[in-house]
Amino acid sequence: MLRGRPERELAAWWEAEAVAAAKAHAAKEQVRLDPGAAGEPERKAGEEQPKEPTPAQPRAAEEGDARAPPRPPSTLPMYQAKPVSAQGLYPHGKSRSKNRSCKRSSDRSEEYCSPRPVTVDSSKARTSLDALKISIRQLKWKEFPFGRRLPCDIYWHGVSFHDSDIFSGLVNKFPGMTEMVRKITLSRAVRIMQNLFPEEYNFYPRSWILPDEFQLFVAQVRMVKDGDPSWKPTFIVKPDSGCQGDGIYLIKDPSDIRLAGTLQSRPAVVQEYVCKPLLIDKLKFDIRLYVLLKSLEPLEIYIAKDGLSRFCTEPYQEPHPRNLHHIFMHLTNYSLNIHSGNFVHSDSTSTGSKRTFSSILCRLSSKGVDIKKVWSDIISLVIKTVIALTPELRVFYQSDIPAGRPGPTCFQILGFDILLMKNLKPILLEVNANPSMRIEHEQELSPGVFENVPSLVDEEVKVAVIRDTLRLMDPFKKKRESQNCKLSSSSLSMAAVDILYIDITRRWNSMTVDQRDSGMCLQAFVEAFFYLAQRKFKMLPLHEQVASLIDLCEYHLSLLDEKRLVCGRSATSGGRPPHSGTLQEATPAAPLAEGHPPPCTNSALKLSHSRHALS
Ligand code: ADP
Repeated sequence: MLRGRPERELAAWWEAEAVAAAKAHAAKEQVRLDPGAAGEPERKAGEEQPKEPTPAQPRAAEEGDARAPPRPPSTLPMYQAKPVSAQGLYPHGKSRSKNRSCKRSSDRSEEYCSPRPVTVDSSKARTSLDALKISIRQLKWKEFPFGRRLPCDIYWHGVSFHDSDIFSGLVNKFPGMTEMVRKITLSRAVRIMQNLFPEEYNFYPRSWILPDEFQLFVAQVRMVKDGDPSWKPTFIVKPDSGCQGDGIYLIKDPSDIRLAGTLQSRPAVVQEYVCKPLLIDKLKFDIRLYVLLKSLEPLEIYIAKDGLSRFCTEPYQEPHPRNLHHIFMHLTNYSLNIHSGNFVHSDSTSTGSKRTFSSILCRLSSKGVDIKKVWSDIISLVIKTVIALTPELRVFYQSDIPAGRPGPTCFQILGFDILLMKNLKPILLEVNANPSMRIEHEQELSPGVFENVPSLVDEEVKVAVIRDTLRLMDPFKKKRESQNCKLSSSSLSMAAVDILYIDITRRWNSMTVDQRDSGMCLQAFVEAFFYLAQRKFKMLPLHEQVASLIDLCEYHLSLLDEKRLVCGRSATSGGRPPHSGTLQEATPAAPLAEGHPPPCTNSALKLSHSRHALS
């Protein structure tokens, strides 16, 4: 259940305009953004994957333990990440022509005449099922929990692209993502960018891949120590196949005996340990941020405005040989800390061992921290990371879904694990291809007896992320946008209009009794309409801005009516039910009630509603 707290009034997503960035980057730095080399063969997927929790492990919402998450690449020079909030809309500059998502738009009768709920196949959703169900219900879409013989509009996979064979619609996984975010692969991808743009990609700790780079690791550490005898580093060793803190340990020197064991047993990444993290209540914590990769070509990234902060359960001290093995002090993994006697389950989202990131930002802001700068650094980190992964992801994509063959359109929610340093610089820890979307956690009622109980903080953050992802991916919205909405322009992208819609709708709905109402109330509509009018007709006085937008909407609605008429005739002659293709019943008032119309279509439609109501 969403609460109407101030931080929740923000839309869930920020749009990161990686398209322009990537192009500018490629042009100016002559970096190839086309696919480079193919990645490793398909392996086990992230959190969802093989790690079915053992009885000893809590089956709670574990953030960030995608199984083999890759490390993101470094940054683009000269690129300023531009987050989009409801108050700040940025141009998009993307061409849809190459996007597979356009391919099903040829059925004119469906475009104009068959409002029906979006269908979602949730049969493979696994641990995200609960949050997905709530989201679908809130949107008033139709869920197929056991699959469907006919194709669905959206397929929700719990693990990977290959969970089932799909030839149409949308699927929430990209081929190859699991491989690309494994620890070693990610480290490699980031390293390439670090070599090219060291300044831009300095948000990722220096890393070495074991066993291949063990000698390099030894030599480089020795070299730095020789040059600066006061340097007393700590390193963290992470098995490539590990997740949830599994197999991780700290060392002070490459000669540590445990490293010899790792070298012989399994591939791993050894990484500089960030010794001075930002502490809250004397505890180390990290951030799980949700990032929607909406499209690879053009690159479209959305960053959720809220995430989770996972806290250690033992007060932090800088690494020292005496405390290196204190996992509750150094590792923020929920799955580890839940076993500490100090773990605090809280009913509040701003206290306890797992909190919302927005509550952390509020707290920092109250202490005078420039949280806009923190956000902008985080956004920059996310974009640069995705850009480092993109070339190989495109190779996977083209290999699994060759152009010209039937195939689904992909999108994916990624979990970024980020550490804030004491000086507030964000550091990338890892990327999870399958971030946990569990919204309950396990509680031990009596020794050995466990029960799943709802987790408020997980539900608040994760349901919003899934629901807004679905809204952004709504296949019908795209059709209506491309056909109906003329509000977008070079300075007002459709993504920006989407965000405005989500933002304002959520804010107003949080004030109404039924917070689950997915439609847009009149006040929200008026606010959105005035905002759009101001954006669209900047130079006019307000009343003329509004009047001009009304005229524009009416003009385009009349064009739409003409099209529907044509469509209605052909549809009727084609044997459709008499009422489904008529002008009246094809009016998008019905989809409005379904709760999935695009914002601008909504605006236009609601406009006619409200004008009727007023007249
Ligand atoms: P896993 O996939 O097993 O969770 P992570 O890379 O996320 O592996 O590391 C586990 C935890 O270790 C992180 O949540 C963080 O608390 C800590 N950690 C990882 N890398 C570093 C680092 N370079 N510096 C400081 N702490 C780190």
